[in-house]
Amino acid sequence: MHCHECNGDKFERRNVELTTRVGEHTVIDRSVVRPVCAKCGEFTVSAETLEKVELRATLVAFTEAPRVTGAMLRFARKTLDMTQAELAERIGTTFESVSRWEREERQMEPWVPLAVLGLVREKLMPPPTGVELKKAG
Ligand SMILES: [Zn+2]
Repeated sequence: MHCHECNGDKFERRNVELTTRVGEHTVIDRSVVRPVCAKCGEFTVSAETLEKVELRATLVAFTEAPRVTGAMLRFARKTLDMTQAELAERIGTTFESVSRWEREERQMEPWVPLAVLGLVREKLMPPPTGVELKKAG
């Protein structure tokens, strides 16, 4: 393996620092371990890992920011890979509402960030396989 930046061949596995901008906030993720070029510090991260980093950043921002802003909602929706209409359908509202919340033309009711957080958690941690709900009767 050679570094694509400096062609160095020495790597050390360590936690890397990945920064995600969630609306007005910056979230730093130090949980990912990658081989890092010993000479120039370059490393690569897969698209799959980056998606998880964005989902985790959304989760942290939604949980810890004093309020969920329209820009944060838009970031969350894009991280969930949904259109305004798709998000609206999943959380039981109209796409006009989603559009107004994102543009801050209307204040989000308290259930909105919680519903979106539920979708983020679900994507980050899908339900366990091999466990099924048995229908009553
Ligand atoms: Zn390098």
